Amino acid sequence: MEKKLEELKTRLLEIGDLNSAGAVLAWDQMTYMPPGGAPARGRQMASLAKLAQEKLIDPALGRLLDDLQPYAEGMPYDDDDASLIRVTRRDFERATKVPPEFLARFNAHSSEAYMVWAAARPANDFAKVLPYLEKTLDLSRELANYFPGYEHIADPLIDFADYGMKAASVRTLFADLRARQVPLVQAITSQEEADDSCIRKHFPEQEQLKFCEEVVRQIGYDFERGRIDKTHHPFTIAFAVGDVRITTRVQEEFLGECLFSNIHEAGHALYEQGCDPKYDGTPLQGGTSAGVHESQSRLWENVVGRSRGFWEFFFPKLQQVFPEQLKGVSLEAFHRAANKVERSLIRTDADEVTYNLHVMLRFEFELAMLEGSLAVRDLPAAWRERFKADLGIEPPDDKDGCMQDIHWYAGNIGGVFQGYTLGNVMGAQFFDAALQAHPGIPDEIRQGKFDTLHNWLKENIYRHGRKFTAPELVQNVTGGEVSIEPYIKYLRAKYGELYQL
Ligand code: ZN
Repeated sequence: MEKKLEELKTRLLEIGDLNSAGAVLAWDQMTYMPPGGAPARGRQMASLAKLAQEKLIDPALGRLLDDLQPYAEGMPYDDDDASLIRVTRRDFERATKVPPEFLARFNAHSSEAYMVWAAARPANDFAKVLPYLEKTLDLSRELANYFPGYEHIADPLIDFADYGMKAASVRTLFADLRARQVPLVQAITSQEEADDSCIRKHFPEQEQLKFCEEVVRQIGYDFERGRIDKTHHPFTIAFAVGDVRITTRVQEEFLGECLFSNIHEAGHALYEQGCDPKYDGTPLQGGTSAGVHESQSRLWENVVGRSRGFWEFFFPKLQQVFPEQLKGVSLEAFHRAANKVERSLIRTDADEVTYNLHVMLRFEFELAMLEGSLAVRDLPAAWRERFKADLGIEPPDDKDGCMQDIHWYAGNIGGVFQGYTLGNVMGAQFFDAALQAHPGIPDEIRQGKFDTLHNWLKENIYRHGRKFTAPELVQNVTGGEVSIEPYIKYLRAKYGELYQL
């Protein structure tokens, strides 16, 4: 057994190394690579991905996992080796159940669909993308059907991003959340719009970058094991527990972009940096699901980074960096500007209160399309109707309606959106649990101290990597299931005060 376990670990590290090398190339492509590098880079990344895939679906790896199964079953569930075998088996089965022929067909279709969408979106031409989206739906169903035995056809697709979650339970959770969030959005947006002019002035790039660096350092991002570089669309990427990078972009006329996207990405990075180093390079390294990952970025960005206490500490420092721009601006005015709620068309620009409404309608349309109760050609009309019901505005076109997100046009339909809202929900649950363990956390945040919160998250969530699924983590941390109550309580308390509801 010892020898077989060693062989498994050696094989898994090789796969991990190939994937990490691919990640370095991807990071470089999105930060410093000159445009001329694009064709070769695409080929290089594909070659590495192919090698990693071949090693992952190697029948010899499957035999090793079979041989080790009795050993894993004899160990406690949370034992490191047992968990490694369990998580690797899940990855192995997912990779081997989908025929390479299908993957090739799907990838070829996706790149074609992406090209068509990239040209059709600015032209507001849904008719152009319609046949591609219909084919994407067929292929998504085909993909799901490689994993028979599901309750809902979206379940296998949800598993890819949020393992352990099911269409039925997420649908119930979201229906409940929508019923309570729509009235909150209406109550806020029927008031006079918050004034955010104090963060919409000229803020030079270098000063913004320097201040953001100070903020993420203070909350615990480790620059010995990471760095920040500029990119078009900010992201976080891990090559190892000891090398977790974040990227950022700056708008000189809007302070909120760089600042809050940096805290968001730092939240993702704290999760990755906090993984136990003994899992480095193995399938146990990294975040356990899209939802839990997003719970950390949103917890740090919104629950901490947009709180009044946070700015009691940082606002005087920000005023020192931008004395002219922020002269005479009160902490209250700044805090209100940072939490402005408005009805908007674009998901990625949406504020904390309206954001989930954008996500939930996409999730429900995914289920409806997969079930066959919504035809792809009826999507634009359904989108406008639902958008008006939830957000009170009707998208004037499809460009900023059902064509705005890349997800369905460069990947599958199903399972690609729920993680964003699950993240908001679980983030509030985790923060609530941290407060119960350490009621002094808000006072510490006011003094710019984040260690207690950061260490609690490390101990309870980060260090476990992929060992536990999201529902298991929530159970371990809160003693219950995923629940919207802490999130609703948080929104009501914060926005009730901000908007005097
Ligand atoms: Zn994120």
